[in-house]
Amino acid sequence: MTKRQSFIPISDQSDFPLENLPYGVFSPTPDKAPRVGVALGDQVLDMAVLEAEGLLEGTKLPSVRVFDQPTLNAFMELGHEAWASVRKRLQDLLANDTPTLRDNRDLRARAFYAQSDVVMHLPVRIGDYTDFYSSKHHAFNVGTMFRGADNALMPNYLHVPIAYHGRASSVILSGQDIHRPIGQTKPKDAQVPQFGPCKLFDFELEMGFFIGTSNTLGNPVNVDEAEKHIFGFVLVNDWSARDIQTWEYQPLGPFNAKNFATSISPWVVTMDALRPFRVPGPDQDPEPFSYLKAQDHWTLDIKLDVLIQSETMDEPHRIARSNYHHLYWTPSQHVAHHTITGCNLQTGDLLASGTISGPEKEERGSMLELSWRGTEPVELPGGETRKFIQDGDTVFLRGFCERDGVRIGFGEVAAKLLPSKGV
Ligand code: MN
Repeated sequence: MTKRQSFIPISDQSDFPLENLPYGVFSPTPDKAPRVGVALGDQVLDMAVLEAEGLLEGTKLPSVRVFDQPTLNAFMELGHEAWASVRKRLQDLLANDTPTLRDNRDLRARAFYAQSDVVMHLPVRIGDYTDFYSSKHHAFNVGTMFRGADNALMPNYLHVPIAYHGRASSVILSGQDIHRPIGQTKPKDAQVPQFGPCKLFDFELEMGFFIGTSNTLGNPVNVDEAEKHIFGFVLVNDWSARDIQTWEYQPLGPFNAKNFATSISPWVVTMDALRPFRVPGPDQDPEPFSYLKAQDHWTLDIKLDVLIQSETMDEPHRIARSNYHHLYWTPSQHVAHHTITGCNLQTGDLLASGTISGPEKEERGSMLELSWRGTEPVELPGGETRKFIQDGDTVFLRGFCERDGVRIGFGEVAAKLLPSKGV
């Protein structure tokens, strides 16, 4: 990759160079209508202004406005050729040798805002949210804790990409704090269940992607065509109430343990931006069924960090690191498996990966694993320890790709756990 320069100054460590150009939805000030923006360095480019000025003409956009909108859905449903054409136009318009924007002081003043000054919104109107369980390391760790190492992986695990249908209405934007949920639990040695605030509150380090173009009901997406349906990726923290989960999960899987909040990062990093960071997909043994076998078996090299800051700490402290490529099942396999029955994915659907744990101890993507079900407390600077997340803790997930001197990032997803509202 040749590194292109923009007329907007961008630091080497920025998540948002010219090679990234992630999409989000923002209001310049709280009283202004939401519109689509693109992150560049520490700036936001107002796509609605570019569209209104005619600077996107000649791309594969329709005549109707798709950026003067409160969500990305209208743009997402246009498909990969439209996304690629806008990306190319933006990289040209924003390059330091293109005078159109660079030398138009009035237009620049109307088109750019400091990210620190704007209000971000949920970028997508999410119809359905599906959460996979695609880290074999995570499945093995959790299985070992609950059933022993000999029976850790369920017999279906290496054949079926496991998932459940989650709750889309409670997918929230980074920065929105959450209250400790309330529910039914049954401690191991208790005779009867209890009702009250969750005691074993956890995060899950995940990533998710948004479906751009739909498939129609009854028509599965071929695994080799799946990538074209993926618009882009965000960081996902799939908050989990472990004690509620333990009591409720049989026989139908998690319900209240997962339905109260799922936090996502505000900038959607497109599949086009991520393509240079593809790596060969994981070895899969036994060989998957043919509907899951892509000719081009790829995954993504995305470095991930988990940080925690308690109320007594001055700054976040990293407690885990991982990588998207540790997942056993790939994005294309998620799409192919989800639709093999004829299920229709729709523009704006969110498909999350499941907790992304790696093989090493420091690569565990949840407190459940990091503290090994509470038996090995995690030490924080200042002497505090954590088995699970405490009231007042803020959890941060961050991620970036880096290759040949080009770094693109996802920013972060962060939220603070507030006390329960009471029973
Ligand atoms: Mn999850």
